[in-house]
Amino acid sequence: MPSKEELIFAQMFPFSDKAKNLIKKEKFLLEDVSEEVMARAKIMLLNAFRKKPYSVNGISFSNELMLNEIYAFPVAKILLSEMSSFDLNRKFALTFSLNTFGFLEKEKNNDKLLRLFDDFKIKFSLSENKAFFLSVSLKEFLSMPSFRELKLVNQSISNGRVFLTKNDSIRFISNLSYKKINSSLPIETKGIPKKFKENANVLKQEFFSLKKTLPEFKFAGNLKTEFIPPCMSFLYGKLSSGSKLTHIANFDLACFLINSRTSKEDFLKLYSRASNFKEKLVLYHYSNIKGKEAKPKYSSPSCNKVVEHSLCLRNETCEGIKSPLGYYIRNLKNLKKSKKPQTESK
Ligand code: SF4
Repeated sequence: MPSKEELIFAQMFPFSDKAKNLIKKEKFLLEDVSEEVMARAKIMLLNAFRKKPYSVNGISFSNELMLNEIYAFPVAKILLSEMSSFDLNRKFALTFSLNTFGFLEKEKNNDKLLRLFDDFKIKFSLSENKAFFLSVSLKEFLSMPSFRELKLVNQSISNGRVFLTKNDSIRFISNLSYKKINSSLPIETKGIPKKFKENANVLKQEFFSLKKTLPEFKFAGNLKTEFIPPCMSFLYGKLSSGSKLTHIANFDLACFLINSRTSKEDFLKLYSRASNFKEKLVLYHYSNIKGKEAKPKYSSPSCNKVVEHSLCLRNETCEGIKSPLGYYIRNLKNLKKSKKPQTESK
């Protein structure tokens, strides 16, 4: 079994050679792709389609969740290749390039950044000049694809070496990851199991219907959608753009919304956008979850429950959070605090 550290690295940077080798060692077979892995691969593609960041599931959770995440990347690439869309290929590469930038930017030590330089087989020297982080040879720099933000003319050059700040080094790696992913697509899909083709077709249709312009949905009530956590935000986005959710996803989102004091009218308005909308059924679920007391009968799910339902999209904003509702309340409190010195608004 790979070490936790290897799993975390491969999960954060699934395009890396290290992730590829790990998959090889684990003897991952396309015939054995589980429902969970397929679901994660689809979420990767859906986020790419929507140009939304993709939050990896399970960092610091179980090895199994991390492996699912690592396997989902090549599975997503196969689905993408079956869908034959250059535009989507680019969006997919961009999603992971931005993820890479985000991860590296937040790392306190430089270990992962340097490991990625090794992974891309780029020779570097750490800089003795504190204004810079490292240097690469001019030859090496010029042999890299040219990037808008990293033009040679903007760099410090001395003795045939190009000096990069830490931020430039991160940009350099995230741009390389974009290039690597985008140029690896499409991949050969001859002989892949039937279920890949079937899932790719379903996704194609889903993306097609998402493209149909539904007017943007806005709550009339008090819910501050910018404060809801990644898991609920994803479900909310999916529903408000007209897609249907699984039963368990519906239930978790409904419990979250009702416990966040969403009104019956807004609740109905949101659920009416789902392609399988049935007003009576939605009202029944609303009343059932709400109950008759002031406090709803069903509480909002805990993070553990959401993880169990494979719906957690944890990212760094979830640090210290135990439930999606807790996340939302914390953000509301922070907003209140930040407004304190000002005069009361509205
Ligand atoms: S709030 Fe909890 S369940 Fe939701 S994404 Fe964050 S950690 Fe996952």
